[in-house]
Amino acid sequence: MPSTLDLQLRRALAERIRFYNELGIYDFYQREPANHRALGDPPAATEQPEQREDMPKGNAVAVALVEEDLFAVPKPEAAVTDPVKALRIIREDLGDCTRCRLHKQGRKQIVFGVGNPKADLMFIGEAPGADEDEQGEPFVGRAGQLLNNMIKAMGLRREDVYIANIIKCRPPGNRTPERDECDTCSPFLMRQIAAIKPKVIVALGAVAAKTLLAINAPMADLRGRWYDFRGTKLAVTYHPAFLLRDPRQKKEAWKDLQRVMKELGL
Ligand code: URA
Repeated sequence: MPSTLDLQLRRALAERIRFYNELGIYDFYQREPANHRALGDPPAATEQPEQREDMPKGNAVAVALVEEDLFAVPKPEAAVTDPVKALRIIREDLGDCTRCRLHKQGRKQIVFGVGNPKADLMFIGEAPGADEDEQGEPFVGRAGQLLNNMIKAMGLRREDVYIANIIKCRPPGNRTPERDECDTCSPFLMRQIAAIKPKVIVALGAVAAKTLLAINAPMADLRGRWYDFRGTKLAVTYHPAFLLRDPRQKKEAWKDLQRVMKELGL
């Protein structure tokens, strides 16, 4: 990227950034290579940035914009230090969202997130299901009951933590969220994380882990290590819905949660 940009290109970039800002997207970042390193892992000499098969190519412009901090527009909540107020501003900015196709595919309501705005611990799942869509709150169905038990086993209450999903609208038939739906919605989650500033994030299941870390790896590889997610420690464990289907894995999930408890001094 040259240090000075052609005026026409600058104008085009400014226009594009204004467009993204109107969509609620303020941060531009580069996805890590697929061989994402866990905290403490030495860099592998053989590491090659891998293109995720569904990863859009050529996001170099967005990366360069961060580096040069061109046309930076502060997020509406940027100057707000109170997380309660910041979350309210983000929710207002989200509005009655129609940014992706899910708004016209049967979602009843937006499921923003719930819990303590000053939580040390944040759980991030995949997407609302039927119960969540009905009640407007994440993890209130059967998987939610199990998540509540997991939280209790950690010595916490549901109200102590913050719970959200990668996307905020129920996909039809509970299908896996599409990549573009995650890309459109997750900037709001990033802003929620920035407002809450948890000490630890737990990604529940492969979709949450892969979206947050931008890596494509099996759960067996994703679990059991710490990741640095924009300065916050992130751990991966099984999704409660998976644990309902395969309860034998609960003891593995408990190991993950114990590591989190140790980190949080619980
Ligand atoms: N599964 C999720 O990933 N999130 C919910 O909110 C409910 C079920």
